[in-house]
Amino acid sequence: MTQPNIVLPGPVETALGLLETAGFEAWVVGGCTRDALLGDTPKDWDITTSALPEETLSVFSDYRTIETGLQHGTVAVLLDDMLLEITTYRVDGTYKDSRHPDAVTFTRTLGEDLARRDFTMNAIAYSPARGYEDLYGGAADIEAHLIRCVGDPETRFTEDALRILRALRFSSVLGFAIEEKTSSAIHALKERILHVAWERISAELLQLLCGKDVYRVLQDYRDVFAVLFPELKPCFDFEQKNPWHIYDVYTHTCHAVEHIEPEPELRLAMLLHDLGKPETFFTDDKGVGHFYGHAKHSARIADDIVHRLKLSTAMQDEVRTLVEFHDYPLEATDHILLRRLHKFGPDTLRHLILVQRADCLAQNPAKTGEDLDRLSTIEQKLNILLNKDPVYRTRDLAVDGGDLIALGMEPGPQMGAFLEDLLEAVMAGDLPNERESLLAYVREKGMKP
Ligand code: ATP
Ligand code: MG
Repeated sequence: MTQPNIVLPGPVETALGLLETAGFEAWVVGGCTRDALLGDTPKDWDITTSALPEETLSVFSDYRTIETGLQHGTVAVLLDDMLLEITTYRVDGTYKDSRHPDAVTFTRTLGEDLARRDFTMNAIAYSPARGYEDLYGGAADIEAHLIRCVGDPETRFTEDALRILRALRFSSVLGFAIEEKTSSAIHALKERILHVAWERISAELLQLLCGKDVYRVLQDYRDVFAVLFPELKPCFDFEQKNPWHIYDVYTHTCHAVEHIEPEPELRLAMLLHDLGKPETFFTDDKGVGHFYGHAKHSARIADDIVHRLKLSTAMQDEVRTLVEFHDYPLEATDHILLRRLHKFGPDTLRHLILVQRADCLAQNPAKTGEDLDRLSTIEQKLNILLNKDPVYRTRDLAVDGGDLIALGMEPGPQMGAFLEDLLEAVMAGDLPNERESLLAYVREKGMKP
């Protein structure tokens, strides 16, 4: 198959040219070649070369180089503000633990380097001087939107089980199907993912969740997700027996994930939001299913999961909060919105609106129209409110602790509680946020023994 030439950024072309002039082979390879063939702009450009790392260093001796990846054969070079990773052709040795090659050896043969790569679409090399080297039919697979292992899938997933999640990630993000043998090997070897470090699992999983085809991947590979999160299993095929729901809990969950904006913490919160449903389920005397208190229960389970994923503390907190309050009552009145701003802050409150909308969109469309309209109104009101510098924190009040002390109040928790009362009176619209009015209120109410 003839492919069009890839237009390379200037610094990439310069780097390839310098290596070739010095007598080495040099190509762009991996994600950048794949993305260019897809018509997407590559995020970064990786170069593979026959030059050994020391040889690469001497070719780029006039440039800034970073040697941190040297033992894997990678030299990073700064060329006109562009950081390029230049890696020597490499053969990964045997894998004893399903995650790390026991040894890395360098080779002078491009074919050997391409053979170690995970998928055919990631094993295409291109150089302006040499054209394409596509030994595994990667370009045809890209055209057919197919993810296929280089070589025998079972061997490749046994060597490095992270590839299982990479396959699912690419499938979700690119919208590609997974070729049959590769897919069967994923199902067969899924338990091996637990050999992989959770930090690496997390990085792939969060990208996967943000992909456009996340619904299909979550459904077709639910057995794989259940290896990472056994807590999902009770949700599979769990009928809700409730007129608001037309899907079982897991299917509803997958729809909720696809209906929220592709931000990692939002997508993860939707994946976890109903985990507490199976355990809190009961049917009333009419046979209708209910899940009272499930959000709190989900949050407890989510807490374990966000720890397991080793997310940043800020992200753990956000996901847990979004899960715990995913069905928290919101209303389009200024007073309730101010209270919610007080409780959650503007960013999390905006997220909660998105969470509730995605949750609705994954329910019975015949019943959720009103709720969706209500959420739009809430969002509009919140935007208007936030444009008016609203008072929703005690520090926004026109008086502070110092004023209360000046009026004879003892510092301490009671004073904090009094400021909260004052804030509530202002948020309720009972008091204007003006110094004189607040001081008068303090004198009247706060000074009583
Ligand atoms: P992205 O767009 O996420 O950067 P990528 O394909 O460039 O996708 P990288 O992790 O940057 O992914 O890896 C660069 C290349 O290295 C891949 O295209 C692939 O050829 C190879 N590669 C990366 N990880 C593995 C792996 N676990 N097993 C085999 N080859 C891998
Ligand atoms: Mg890359």
